[in-house]
Parts: sequence; structure tokens; C-alpha cells
Amino acid sequence: MATQIELLADLQIVDQSLRAKTLEVAEGEARAAALEEAIRAQNTAATKVREEVAGLAAKQRDLEARLTAAETKMKDRRMRITRIRNDKELGLAKREIDLLKEETSTVETELVSIMEEGETASARLTGLETELARLTTTRDGEAADQREKFARLAAEIERERARRSELVQTVDSDLRRKYELIFSRRGGVAVVEIRGGICQGCRMRVPPQLFNEIQRNQHVILCPSCQRILFWRSEGEEASR
Ligand SMILES: [Zn+2]
Repeated sequence: MATQIELLADLQIVDQSLRAKTLEVAEGEARAAALEEAIRAQNTAATKVREEVAGLAAKQRDLEARLTAAETKMKDRRMRITRIRNDKELGLAKREIDLLKEETSTVETELVSIMEEGETASARLTGLETELARLTTTRDGEAADQREKFARLAAEIERERARRSELVQTVDSDLRRKYELIFSRRGGVAVVEIRGGICQGCRMRVPPQLFNEIQRNQHVILCPSCQRILFWRSEGEEASR
């Protein structure tokens, strides 16, 4: 017949496994959520730059049209000037050609700067889209792995919960509550072995008098240093482990 402490030790094995698996599921979910968030942010950034690139392309087309119009007009004025005989009209036509030259030069300068801006924005967009594609591939790949892993973990968790319910019925309820409290406060370790008079939970030597008491009977004794439930196996068992 197993003692209450031995039953607790068994319960702890199940609880530790459940804790690790639940944590694994939570971490997987957190990682998936973080990836999803990164993709969303990258998408927003890419959309913004894509709009910027489109805006710059429209501006470039507009400037190119203005340049073509000015050049056509200038060609026309230059042809006409050869037919002008009147000095006043000639002066006006020359003035008009000078203004067109100025405009052409201004538009060309602006065009160069817009094209440079466009190139920079396009390069940024390529970078963002490459990263977006990488993130999406990672997410899709992991999603497939995770689905399989989560299904396996869910089945194991269910099995272990059933095993836990069985075990819990064999443990005194006050003791169980005490155990659960220590388990949650002491990082998932509530029952620890004492070997050669040393608590395996905190590595402190337990006073000899207390150690004798633990060896004599099986009532619940807490480690004076880490407050965990001490569990002792007889020498033969202790040596074989
Ligand atoms: Zn201890």
C-alpha cells in the first residue's frame, strides 16, 4: 500500500508533465501570435511605401508630360521665329523661348530628384516585401508543424488529466491542498527526496533529529529551508536510484 507521500510523488510526476505541456502549448501560441503581429506590421509598412512609390511614379509621369509639352512648344517657337520680320515680335518670341528654356531646366531638375526619391522608395519596398515573404513562409511552415504538435499535446494532456483525477482521489484533501500550494509557489516542485540527510530541492542539510523523524514515520514533514514536502526512500531504494 503506497503511503500518502508516495502518492503525492506520483501525482507530482503527472503534474510536472502537465505543467510542461501546458507551457509548451502557451509558448507555441505566443510565438504564433508574435509572428502574426510582425506580419501585420510589415504589411502596413509595405502598403504605406507602395502608396508612396505609386505617388512618386504619378508625379514623374506628370513632370515628363510637362517637359515634353515645353520642348514641343519651344521647337514650334524656334520654327516660327525664322519667319518673323518685325523687331518687336522677334523680341517677344525670343523672350518666350528663354522662358521655355527656364521651365525645361526647372522641370528637369525636379524630375531628377523625383526619380531618385522613387528609386530609394522602391528599394525600401523590395526590402519590406522580401521580409514579408520570409515571415509568411515561416508562419505557414510553423503552422503546419504546430497543428501536428498541438494535436499530440492535447491528447497527452487529456490522458494525463484523467490520470490526475484518479490519483487525486487517493490523496487526503488537506494534504493535497498543501501540496498544490507548494507546487504553484515553488516552481512546480512540491515533493522532494531527502538523500543522505540533504534536501534535493534546496541542497540544504536537514537537522539530524528531523532526518531521523522522516525515516521513522511517514507523516508530512517540510524542509525547514525551502518548505517543500520531504520524501524519503529506504536505503535500498535510495541506492538503486
Ligand atoms: Zn529544501
